[in-house]
Amino acid sequence: MKSIAILGSTGSIGTQTLEVIRDNNQMFSAFMLTAHSNAYLLIQQAIEFVPRYAIICDDTRYQEVKEALAHLPITVMSGHQAIKETVTHPEIDVVLTAMVGFAGLEPTINAIKAGKDIALANKETLVVAGEIITGLAKQHNVKILPVDSEHSAIFQCLAGEDYSKIEKIIITASGGPFRGKTTQYLANVTREQALKHPNWVMGAKITIDSASLMNKGLEVIEAKWLFDLRADQIDVIVHPQSIVHSLVQFQDGSIKAQMGLPDMKLPILYALAYPNRVTTNFIRFDFINYPHLSFEKPDIDTFRNLRLAYEALNQGGNMPCIINAANEVAVAAFLKNEIGFLAMSDIIETCMQKVRLIKEPSLHDYLNTDKETRIFAQNLIQ
Ligand code: NDP
Ligand code: MG
Repeated sequence: MKSIAILGSTGSIGTQTLEVIRDNNQMFSAFMLTAHSNAYLLIQQAIEFVPRYAIICDDTRYQEVKEALAHLPITVMSGHQAIKETVTHPEIDVVLTAMVGFAGLEPTINAIKAGKDIALANKETLVVAGEIITGLAKQHNVKILPVDSEHSAIFQCLAGEDYSKIEKIIITASGGPFRGKTTQYLANVTREQALKHPNWVMGAKITIDSASLMNKGLEVIEAKWLFDLRADQIDVIVHPQSIVHSLVQFQDGSIKAQMGLPDMKLPILYALAYPNRVTTNFIRFDFINYPHLSFEKPDIDTFRNLRLAYEALNQGGNMPCIINAANEVAVAAFLKNEIGFLAMSDIIETCMQKVRLIKEPSLHDYLNTDKETRIFAQNLIQ
């Protein structure tokens, strides 16, 4: 039995993780659930799964959660500090990080320091501080198991392989709702259009990142750290059907791909059960229903964020942290209809030019860079 802490249990990945736990309750149990402010769903989840801890970040919702769960043996707490401390509990085996954005960084660091394996959905953590995270994981002999579907695909292709024999990896991208569109078209797209992803139902932030291709840029950086690669070993290819989840090309020219219908429950289950494979009744992929799987080059002139992410990766230091913070602010503003779609890339590019580059940042530097960039980006919006 593995005891799982889910950071962000009320989100898209969090709720799908609970479905996986519900379907495999002989193998997994939920030890800790956390939400930002969705008290209602956290309460429902806690009543069903009876975790040892239920934590709500928003202090104003604490009483409501506490009272609703008073009849159960659940410790209810509030605030980020409670999450950072509780992830180190000795009874936790795996911490599944499904919070959005930079907020996932510090709890993940604490969990690694306490020797917990990480099932990592929160890609921003690796984008911001990949070097620190992978260094700590090595030091504490902790596994970072990817939940992101592309990285899970690569991880599965690499099972039993020597990582030093990788020539390159090829990350697939659906292309999002605006695939094939022009810059002129993007200038006028609305929030509602951007939130309609063709193949995946996900939280709002990652859905906008998918529409702007920033998600793919963040995934390139995530892959660099997960698989210890150079930027020139990481290719992106657009594959609108989202069936081939990603590929690895080895030094003998052989390519392995991992395929399946788009369903995040599979990579979640693979990460939680690793190194075992579990029998499921998920709907099977049938080649006959997909006579045409197609592939095309990403348009990095129109979708500038992908190019900016490669630039950030090449510059290194705190630059990926800068683009991440700028992007979080830009996406939040776009979701509030404060800026247009293209302004998101403008904000990121300006932050890359103006916020101070630190070549070898400490954790303290990353925390400062994140703060500084957010203030700078916010000023560009007002
Ligand atoms: P959602 O927005 O659906 O859920 C986010 C979860 O984190 C919710 O439980 C939310 O609580 C909580 N949360 C949000 N902000 C904070 C904060 N500042 N502090 C603490 N908790 C917070 O996101 P997703 O599930 O879509 O994505 C989660 C992560 O997984 C992201 O990093 C994303 O990039 C990654 N990912 C997601 C995929 C997907 O299919 N959705 C695929 C691959 C990666 P509340 O509900 O109370 O707001
Ligand atoms: Mg992905």
